[in-house]
Amino acid sequence: MAVFRLDPCGIICIILTYLAVFYADYAVVEWMVIPTMSTSLWGAFNVVCFNTIVFLLIMAHLRAVFSDPGIVPFPDNNLDFSDMHSGVGSPVHKEDWTVCSRCETYRPPRAHHCRICRRCIRRMDHHCPWINNCVGELNQKYFIQFLVFVGLASLYSVIMVIISWASDCVDCKNEMVFKQHRVIHTVLLLIESLLFGIFVIAIMCDQV
Ligand SMILES: [Zn+2]
Ligand SMILES: [Zn+2]
Repeated sequence: MAVFRLDPCGIICIILTYLAVFYADYAVVEWMVIPTMSTSLWGAFNVVCFNTIVFLLIMAHLRAVFSDPGIVPFPDNNLDFSDMHSGVGSPVHKEDWTVCSRCETYRPPRAHHCRICRRCIRRMDHHCPWINNCVGELNQKYFIQFLVFVGLASLYSVIMVIISWASDCVDCKNEMVFKQHRVIHTVLLLIESLLFGIFVIAIMCDQV
């Protein structure tokens, strides 16, 4: 069961994510590859590679957003809380299951209640506004894939900046305005790659 949460913070973060991804794609192709590598197959190769990473990044992101993180289902019948402290517990569950008073349901060990999703999530890691979803047992692999592709795209962007600036730029010599725009896009792309790179490394360390 997958539900898209109408959490304003999550929706803003998702929009920011896509703006950042599409901007990076635009800056790499339009301002790094085309001015210096457009006449060679090397340019086409880099455009295909970078766009493949972006495509895989978006696929992993969409899966993390729209997949069920491991929501603990509501019980078919209302719980009878009278036996909660008797030590008997629900006959169908093991003893280490706990009760969530908000969901009014039994939940397995390591499941936690998320205030934003308003449900209990199995093996909940954290609620991530960037995917507007919890990171739990069932979607953690998509979340890690997303992080890996964000890291790869950031690294690739930095490499493209270095290669592009080390190459001859014909348009830059003829047009001053073009060169100025290229400098602005380079700075923005580097700041973005650095921010996302640090962000990904921090979360990856936390996940491991
Ligand atoms: Zn709960
Ligand atoms: Zn959540």
